[in-house]
Amino acid sequence: MSVPTPRPASVTTVDALVVGAGLAGLYMLHRLRGQGLDTVVVEAGDGVGGTWYWNRYPGARCDVESLEYSYSFSAELEQEWDWTEKYPTQPEILRYVEHVADRFGLRDGVRLSTTVTAARYDDARGRWHVTTDAGDAYDAEQLIMATGCLSVAKTPEVPGTDTFAGRTFHTGHWPHEPVDFTGRRVAVIGTGSSGIQTIPLIAEQAAELTVFQRTPNFSMPASNRPLDPAEQAARKQDYPAHREAARTSGFGVPVEAATQSALEVSDDERDARYEAAWGVNLVGLLSSYTDTIVDRAANDTAAEFVRRKIRATVQDPEVAEALSPRDHPFGTKRPCLDTNYYATYNRDHVHLVDLRATPLAEITPRGVRTSEREYEVDDLVFATGFDAMTGALLRIDVVGRDGATLRDRWADGPTTNLGLQVAGFPNLWMITGPGSPSVLSNMMVSIEQHVDFVADCLAFAHGRGETVVESTPEAETEWTEHVRVAGEATLYPQANSWYMGSNVPGKPRRFMAYIGGVGAYRQHCDDLAARGYPGFVFSSPRVPEPA
Ligand SMILES: Cc1cc2nc3c(=O)[nH]c(=O)nc-3n(C[C@H](O)[C@H](O)[C@H](O)COP(=O)(O)OP(=O)(O)OC[C@H]3O[C@@H](n4cnc5c(N)ncnc54)[C@H](O)[C@@H]3O)c2cc1C
Repeated sequence: MSVPTPRPASVTTVDALVVGAGLAGLYMLHRLRGQGLDTVVVEAGDGVGGTWYWNRYPGARCDVESLEYSYSFSAELEQEWDWTEKYPTQPEILRYVEHVADRFGLRDGVRLSTTVTAARYDDARGRWHVTTDAGDAYDAEQLIMATGCLSVAKTPEVPGTDTFAGRTFHTGHWPHEPVDFTGRRVAVIGTGSSGIQTIPLIAEQAAELTVFQRTPNFSMPASNRPLDPAEQAARKQDYPAHREAARTSGFGVPVEAATQSALEVSDDERDARYEAAWGVNLVGLLSSYTDTIVDRAANDTAAEFVRRKIRATVQDPEVAEALSPRDHPFGTKRPCLDTNYYATYNRDHVHLVDLRATPLAEITPRGVRTSEREYEVDDLVFATGFDAMTGALLRIDVVGRDGATLRDRWADGPTTNLGLQVAGFPNLWMITGPGSPSVLSNMMVSIEQHVDFVADCLAFAHGRGETVVESTPEAETEWTEHVRVAGEATLYPQANSWYMGSNVPGKPRRFMAYIGGVGAYRQHCDDLAARGYPGFVFSSPRVPEPA
């Protein structure tokens, strides 16, 4: 006996449905409304802000400078908003996003506390039928996934996580009210960006802090400071030129282009250059020489420079060695910026457990058991990262033309045209999807570029009286191959990183971002737009909507 499909309580018809109310979803809403498209954003969280809504752990902050990590689409917004620090904290960025939502009147277009669970393409009508966990549904011409590259938090696959009797936190789903660790024995599991940011601050409160590390990461000092008003005013005056430099750069942050190989200069000259880049920003060290990210010997010079810094800071040589990355080239896992991270291990009540030496066995009711012993703790903090780039997209049951599912299409890893579209899934768009520079860049720059591309492309289609836009399979294959070749020409595939999907058991290993640089990528997209979007097919639905 067949079970009838439950009818949704209501179906809302819109021109465009955007999933996710982070920086990408809100700007998408603003752009599409500006083009007269009836647009709704659906967001799982109870508030706007995406990453900056969810990640409220102590120490959470951006490691791209505030004056770079901000929208550029409105000169008025640029001028009226004042940042307080070089690197903005999570609360400050969230205040900024909320200001943007209010200033541009976006809140009434956002449906909060609603998770999109499935989307099915109706080929005859050229429209998406989208359903949510709230039991309602949307009938949308365009479906835009602004679901985030780092929005699906991951806990480690160890037995017993549910049995722990104390308090459990995940950095990616931190409570809204402050968490007090005073006098408590705390375990932090994970030493990626979030762990490295939060460990020094938890250490300030906790009676005892034990850090469980599987892989050490390279971290550099943030050298954070309050922003000097004169410096901010000068940047605001120079914003157009500075933004242009960011848009045409490699990582979305203007840096002087390297001209030399790390191997063609003397040790002293190289060290002086690394020293000058140390503590300046996230990408300076990586960008010091032309071959840091493509040549292992060149890379080793930067990696050893950081390891020397670790040894100079951490007093116990054994702990310093355990904290020193040796299993991946510098920069091939997300580099980190920190405030007092390595020095924190000099504190008597902070302990490092190297899980490569004594693997994690289980979480017990009382704490954490490794192959060696049990560590009793009151609180457990998972800083274990995300199912990156594809996680949020594949959680949704996306069914395109002829019943093809996105999960099946990406079973061997994501394939896309420009990180924006997948052939066979017309009118489905991804903002900073796999195959675009996305997480290798200042995301603000990449988000604005993708949103603008989608909005402009839809204006082009609608201007021709067409409502269906779809990547050709050939363009998708060609771009995916280009992304693969570009990635394999670098050292990135040598790391077990979330860029490669390595942090999620069973996930296909494939370098998912485009390393060609945001400038080159933007130029390519602009060229396609100027030539009428070759690689995309524009058409009308077979069954037009009744007038
Ligand atoms: C701790 C942390 C620090 C970071 N630091 C930097 C940095 O220094 N520089 C930088 O460039 N980038 C940084 N990033 C990356 C950051 O994610 C981006 O900069 C940016 O905020 C992404 O915006 P977004 O709108 O694309 O996605 P997100 O902010 O992730 O928003 C996506 C939203 O979609 C919602 N969503 C997902 N699936 C569904 C669904 N099925 N139904 C309904 N809603 C859904 C989520 O709830 C989320 O709110 C950081 C990320 C993290 C986690």
